[in-house]
Amino acid sequence: MKELKKIFECQRCGYCCQGETTVSLDEEDRRCMVQALGLSENEVRDKYWRVNGNITQMKIVDGHCIFYNNGCTVHSGRPWRCRQWPLHPSLLIDENNFATIRESCPGINQHISYDEFCEVLGAIMDPRGIVHC
Ligand code: SF4
Ligand code: SF4
Repeated sequence: MKELKKIFECQRCGYCCQGETTVSLDEEDRRCMVQALGLSENEVRDKYWRVNGNITQMKIVDGHCIFYNNGCTVHSGRPWRCRQWPLHPSLLIDENNFATIRESCPGINQHISYDEFCEVLGAIMDPRGIVHC
């Protein structure tokens, strides 16, 4: 997507997939992930999920999400919160969020002005606040 590239191009640094927890998966996330992996839900749960009560997250291996391997290996079935990163709707309402997220994510154009960034992001974001890429 040409417009998207003006504001963001993932550098596959892995920063957003590191840590000791991951985003939580809602019902739709689980369904999409199972479908993308082509396994049964039980197999996906055993192999990839960490379930604690009614919270389901992805397992962590060596300090990163189990699906991270020089990029996301479940890209088409990744959770919606992963789809939102780093182009989160909050960027459009607070320049401080923009500055903070730009510092964490080298994929965000480091030279573009905030106004220009918002103009492009506002045009390509869907009503749920997700940019499809
Ligand atoms: S932090 Fe940004 S550049 Fe790095 S992997 Fe995540 S989205 Fe891509
Ligand atoms: S599902 Fe993909 S994008 Fe989300 S944390 Fe795991 S590796 Fe990263």
